[in-house]
Amino acid sequence: MRSKLDPLEREILEHLLKKGDKGITQEELLPLLNVDKRSCSRALLRLEKKGFIERRRAVVKGKKTYVIKPVLLEKKLLELYNAVRQIPCFRCPYLFSCAEGGDPSPEKCRILLSFLKGVRSELAKN
Ligand code: SF4
Repeated sequence: MRSKLDPLEREILEHLLKKGDKGITQEELLPLLNVDKRSCSRALLRLEKKGFIERRRAVVKGKKTYVIKPVLLEKKLLELYNAVRQIPCFRCPYLFSCAEGGDPSPEKCRILLSFLKGVRSELAKN
């Protein structure tokens, strides 16, 4: 999973979290950072790809721009909850007897293997 944040991404998120739901334009954000516009834009793209921010087109003071907002924690938690719910082990009657080297075991389980192949193929699409 590519969710590790570099120092610039972390700094951007800290500024965004201070702004809350109203968000901030890239023009307002740039002076708060000690980087050029290109580095800022690239960091914002990475944060958007990782799902930490949303960028929406807007017109501010007559100029077209993007308003950047942090993705709400509740939304991230819901996505995580829905992702975890897909793991077959949580619906398996053998959950508490399944153990590495045992019978049943995760390394021999065809259901888990099939699930992991599906995850890998989904990740390969992105
Ligand atoms: S690895 Fe297979 S057998 Fe074990 S808990 Fe998960 S789904 Fe059940």
